[in-house]
Amino acid sequence: MLSRTPAEVSAHAAGAPDLPVLDAGIADCFACPRLVAWREEVAAVRRASFREQSYWGRPVPGFGPAGAAIGILGLAPAAHGGNRTGRVFTGDRSGDVLFAALHRAGLANQPTSVAADDGLELSHTRIFAAVRCAPPDNKPLPVERDTCAPWLHRELDLISPTLRVVVALGAFAWAAWWPAMTAVYGRRPPVPRPKFGHGAQVSVPGTPDLLGSYHVSQQNTFTGRLTPGMLDEILGRAKQSAGLA
Ligand code: SF4
Repeated sequence: MLSRTPAEVSAHAAGAPDLPVLDAGIADCFACPRLVAWREEVAAVRRASFREQSYWGRPVPGFGPAGAAIGILGLAPAAHGGNRTGRVFTGDRSGDVLFAALHRAGLANQPTSVAADDGLELSHTRIFAAVRCAPPDNKPLPVERDTCAPWLHRELDLISPTLRVVVALGAFAWAAWWPAMTAVYGRRPPVPRPKFGHGAQVSVPGTPDLLGSYHVSQQNTFTGRLTPGMLDEILGRAKQSAGLA
């Protein structure tokens, strides 16, 4: 079912009875004209090293089991990563870092994520983004963030029976959590809102814990701002919050 307006996004997200229907609805979303144009342009022009490949060029659904206890919330797909392969954090350097860490933590069956059919499986963990289309310069507009939010909120709603902790990768994901908390759990965020920081943790009764991590972007990992050890520590804490350690 195609979504071409914010009202259609809200209606189709709210009406999705399970994750497969939700994922299919996300992949058929055309509600943000700027992002639709960008994702399709990137898919048509392609990067030289991927010129022989067909890009996905659509919104990227979440990935991981329905009964996840740990949620990992990113910003948006990468132009030549998720927007190319069709799977979140797959086929780019950010994903290399993230999935290697998930594998070390025992939450992924392999340390790499290169293509949607590469056999990767996650345990207890589902990964999703606040905005489902690759944005120019990795910067969605506020209106795009708000238009896309119902997809995230319904995804959280569907996994809420098992979800115990959400790891927010970066300040954008951290900020996206507060409206989700209200929409999904009916709880008001703390006032003032807790500040994002690497290792920051917020526990509000009746909601999953929120755990902040620097984003796994190349900018952070190449400069050493986020090291593999730092990510291991975050995932260890997430497992503890989820009752998995
Ligand atoms: S960003 Fe979200 S709401 Fe906008 S077109 Fe993509 S999937 Fe649809």
